Amino acid sequence: MSRELGLKELYLGFRDPKAIKVYAKLIEQEAQKIPNEVNIMEVCGGHTHAIMKYGLNQLLPKNVKFVHGPGCPVCIMPKERIDHAYVLSEQKDVILITLGDMIKVPGSRGTLQDARAKGSDVRFVYSPMDTLKIAAQNPDKTVIFFAIGFETTTPMTAALINQVIEKRINNILFHINHVTVPEPMRVLLDDETNKIDAFIGPAHVSVISGSKIYDEFPRDYKKPLVVSGFEPVDVMKSVLMILKQLSEGRCEVEVEYSRSVTHDGNTEAQKLNNMYFEKREHFRWRGIGDIAKSALKLKDEYGYLDAEVFYKEILPNEKIDDHKLCICGDILKGKANPVECKVFGKACTPSSPLGSCMVSSEGACAAYYKYGNLL
Ligand code: SF4
Ligand code: SF4
Repeated sequence: MSRELGLKELYLGFRDPKAIKVYAKLIEQEAQKIPNEVNIMEVCGGHTHAIMKYGLNQLLPKNVKFVHGPGCPVCIMPKERIDHAYVLSEQKDVILITLGDMIKVPGSRGTLQDARAKGSDVRFVYSPMDTLKIAAQNPDKTVIFFAIGFETTTPMTAALINQVIEKRINNILFHINHVTVPEPMRVLLDDETNKIDAFIGPAHVSVISGSKIYDEFPRDYKKPLVVSGFEPVDVMKSVLMILKQLSEGRCEVEVEYSRSVTHDGNTEAQKLNNMYFEKREHFRWRGIGDIAKSALKLKDEYGYLDAEVFYKEILPNEKIDDHKLCICGDILKGKANPVECKVFGKACTPSSPLGSCMVSSEGACAAYYKYGNLL
């Protein structure tokens, strides 16, 4: 007799403590074959959380370490872009819409939560498509979708744009802050002081982009990369795959998360993205600085949907630095650990964050705080 598998049954195997222990043993054996220290950067905040939640860092041998990377779209958003959202929300008859944690990140004028407390109509949605309903219910208002995220969420914004055009909706505008993964990875590797020996590649991003976007890292930088799922068994297996590459003298892109990731990715989603977006010349990443061609904007022909074009005259553009004690920049570059920050868990906590890595639920500081017995 057949029966459907419950959700729990689907993921339990990927969290099985016995399997994690077996991988820890295999990792230890493989690490013994490697004489030097191995620093593995997990690019994505989702992996940072899995590592901290399941204590995977404590299961690694002495010569293998995780370093945390710039893979959270909230953590890398510079203050001036948050100020854009703040100013837009203050405009007459505007409803500003965004996703999750963005509402809590402080810009130089405060957070979007503060703007809301002062009377702005700021709402957060779980799906960009909810914007359509809000626009239909408020025909006299301009609804601005403040779009954030990596390759993962870009197709959802593109699908929303598609709907707006097809249905000839005339009260939705877009403020586009989508960023792309390979460019910051390149910047980190071009920095000669970097401590990165290999990468754990993002899961969701790679479902859309395919693993092909990482081909340059083994080829040009001689750094192995394994695209990994988010569950603890996935992460441990990925570490083992990386160590095997290093001990066997191989250097390539491998996909541990083969249940969802292919080399070419979701080509339909990529087509949709290419229809509406093109690369910006530059985008400033919080803590890292200007990175060429690392973010997207609406193509000029869709300028009539672009809030940055429509509100050009009022949007502030001065660059704003982080709090002087905040070392988010070094954390996002894999050069420091959250506990090395002097104000970690003291002046900076999730309820009163000084930097974005403590705000975002995917941020490294938030992960260390949440899973380091500080709550
Ligand atoms: S959106 Fe997905 S891939 Fe990107 S940082 Fe978050 S969890 Fe990682
Ligand atoms: S603990 Fe706070 S101030 Fe320190 S690096 Fe993290 S976010 Fe910045």
